[in-house]
Amino acid sequence: MTGEITLTGIVLSSMPIGDYDRRVSILTCEKGRISAFARNARRPMSSLRAVSMPFTFGKFSIFSGRDAYSVNSCEDTVFFDSLSSDIGKMYHAMYFCELMSFFTRENSEEREQVKLLFTALKVLRDGKIPCSFARRIFELRCLANYGEAPNIFECSVCSKKEDSKKWLFDIKQGTIKCENCAGIKSTSSNNGINTLVIPETVRYAMHYTITSPYKTLFGFKLIPEMEERFTKAVDAIIKNHVDKPLKTLEILETLEYNQ
Ligand SMILES: [Zn+2]
Repeated sequence: MTGEITLTGIVLSSMPIGDYDRRVSILTCEKGRISAFARNARRPMSSLRAVSMPFTFGKFSIFSGRDAYSVNSCEDTVFFDSLSSDIGKMYHAMYFCELMSFFTRENSEEREQVKLLFTALKVLRDGKIPCSFARRIFELRCLANYGEAPNIFECSVCSKKEDSKKWLFDIKQGTIKCENCAGIKSTSSNNGINTLVIPETVRYAMHYTITSPYKTLFGFKLIPEMEERFTKAVDAIIKNHVDKPLKTLEILETLEYNQ
């Protein structure tokens, strides 16, 4: 089908093509991830110059040709260009976009992921919570929106939903067992290769991350010890689901290591 369509979305990545063009990957509500040409976008006076850069949100008018999409214009734009003045924030934003490429599909509705990414970019820009904490909330919710959330809502053996001070989380299965069913004795010595002991606070933080409306998603706080254990659990979950190296994550980890 050829013709002009309007798609609401966010530019995930942008690369120069030929002398003056760009090829952009846009995550759209209506059609998931699409690849499109922004012709002449690198010419100084081009109206596509700014809108073809990463993190741009807007309503994109797109010509759908026989073989490819081309961006004609973009309205109602929100730019997150202030992110580029802080290297930590910028690499987090780039990583969020790369992870989004991994956890989205082409030609399928991705409204939830667009809303999540938009919210997360605002959180990074506003800087009210540390980027590293925002990252773990984003990662877990991104995975959940993709339909791969771990079942941390009840014990996989007795179906108990609460009243367990700690839980044994099976990373590979994505399930939890209450302390009775798992026979947990000490807090962390039961951590195994594929299992983690998580306190109820961390289980609840994960529950909240998977189910909260976007408006309040990034609004919770944890004491440092619990934040560390939440981070460890999310890192283990993501590592189990992402089976290829992500370029931006490698850079991000180098930056965090050097901070
Ligand atoms: Zn149980």
